[in-house]
Amino acid sequence: MKTFKDLRELLTRIDHKGYPAYKDTRGSYQFEGYILSIDHVQGDPFAAPSKVSIQVPGKTAGFPSDLFQEKHKRTALQDYLIRKFAREAETFNFKAKGSGKSGLLSVSRCGQEILERTACEIRLDGTVIVRMEIGFPANGRTINSRELIKILFDFLPGCVKKSLFYASLNKADVQKNAELAEDQQYIREQLPKLGLAAFVANGSILPRESGVSNRPMKQAVAFQSPKSMEVSIDLPNYGKIAGMGIKQGITLIVGGGYHGKSTLLKALELGIYNHISGDGREYVITDDTAVKIRAEDGRSIKQSDISMFINNLPNGKDTVHFCTQDASGSTSQAANVIEAMETGTNLMLIDEDTSATNFMIRDELMQRVVNRNSEPITPFIDRVQELFSQYHISTILVAGSSGSYFHKADCILQMDHYLPKDITEFAKQEAYAFPIPNDPVKPSDIPSFHRIVKSDINFKKNDRIKLKTQGRDSVLINKETIDLRYVEQLADSEQLSSLGILVKYAQLHIFDGKKTLSEAVEELCRILSTKGLSAVCEGNYIPSGFAMPRKQEIFACFNRYRSLKL
Ligand code: ADP
Ligand code: MG
Repeated sequence: MKTFKDLRELLTRIDHKGYPAYKDTRGSYQFEGYILSIDHVQGDPFAAPSKVSIQVPGKTAGFPSDLFQEKHKRTALQDYLIRKFAREAETFNFKAKGSGKSGLLSVSRCGQEILERTACEIRLDGTVIVRMEIGFPANGRTINSRELIKILFDFLPGCVKKSLFYASLNKADVQKNAELAEDQQYIREQLPKLGLAAFVANGSILPRESGVSNRPMKQAVAFQSPKSMEVSIDLPNYGKIAGMGIKQGITLIVGGGYHGKSTLLKALELGIYNHISGDGREYVITDDTAVKIRAEDGRSIKQSDISMFINNLPNGKDTVHFCTQDASGSTSQAANVIEAMETGTNLMLIDEDTSATNFMIRDELMQRVVNRNSEPITPFIDRVQELFSQYHISTILVAGSSGSYFHKADCILQMDHYLPKDITEFAKQEAYAFPIPNDPVKPSDIPSFHRIVKSDINFKKNDRIKLKTQGRDSVLINKETIDLRYVEQLADSEQLSSLGILVKYAQLHIFDGKKTLSEAVEELCRILSTKGLSAVCEGNYIPSGFAMPRKQEIFACFNRYRSLKL
């Protein structure tokens, strides 16, 4: 293998040459304690920065295997290292003078959630790999390799040693990180055994600092479970932890405006992920198949069987194989429910703030005036119990303005000055005094999920496929923008980038004209869980900038991809 000396020589030699001479640096170089690989070199100083990775052998990195053998701990350690590495990299405030992205050193920015990312990978033998981007410096289009030498030789070696070698890390801190992951995993495993859909520990801080910051709000009211719902879980490291156990079934969250209902629901939505220490939601753990359901006017729907909720449309449209390019509030929400069922969810999370009213309820007077037979919509309220009894899908629903769900809920919480109160008994009594017309609906047929993906002619093996991620909002694949703004449980733009490559991968390798969408997504998920994201990155190197999405969001992405033919 070439060594750092070879690289230094090469860089010195190409100084002042034209930018393309940087291409010669591609390759791996042995540095002291690690291998530096220049995986891809940018074509010019204004293009996307070059891809560089660092590989520290297990022996040198020196992490005890107990810290990375189990998946959840490995993910937590990877996350820890990438944050540590990014913090070190930030101290690199030297700005290479030069054109375009000269001297830019960029490492994934992690938010509050702990996600698997291509930015850091720990192999089972303990090898640590960190991937980043570096803008190779130039003046105009003339190579300024002296600045790159500063980055690769003066700065990076220290950065690697300080952040990727166990010996230089704070061991207690690393241990604490692993213990938190273990405790979080333990709660996840306990949820079904305790018959719970979610757990919110006492003392949790749910609200965020602001609309643009996901850090915990300072001086927030800490969460406290009502006594009647309190459960205590004996965690392997933390010991006994008490909090609110939300039982499987139907849970209604009510309360005056601004009392913290949506904040609680939002925390539950993101409880599918583990959160970092200090977040305030470390011990808010939700069934990790949970799906937020909302109205999404304008989305496209392909072959969804929404007949459970919508029938006899006045235009005679088929609702067993429902298709539209521009769904209404109610049809989009119906499709979101059915598609969530297709992903195998155990829990739906709904906020009345973002729901279509006509999908959620029909009030009594309306029922009297407009006969059921002339109403195409069977509202969610008439199916919510069936979803639980037939499909074992629980619902947690925020409803501040309609009391109709009092009749259906197993548990009713009132948020009062940001604290939950169990008002089930009282609300049930009141509801008893206000009976609803007894007009039971017929149970629905099991929705059909048999949606075959037509073998795709969008593009072929060697086509250049353009992928672009637009923040948390959408992915662009060739000319189509897949709108994911309302897929609210996507936590990070790197997950959207992954969805982009998954859409491409599935079209090239999985869709064969025979598989159903569900079979195809299952196959993708199998590949992801056995081989990780790197398995779907085409090309001869693995880039940074990709984070693992859940099966539910992969489905959601395909469901919104208009070019997909079902
Ligand atoms: P609702 O859905 O009941 O109308 P929200 O959940 O939107 O209320 O909360 C209203 C406001 O109160 C938000 O600005 C939120 O940040 C703040 N808030 C929520 N929970 C807390 C809390 N525990 N402590 C302090 N402020 C909170
Ligand atoms: Mg609200």
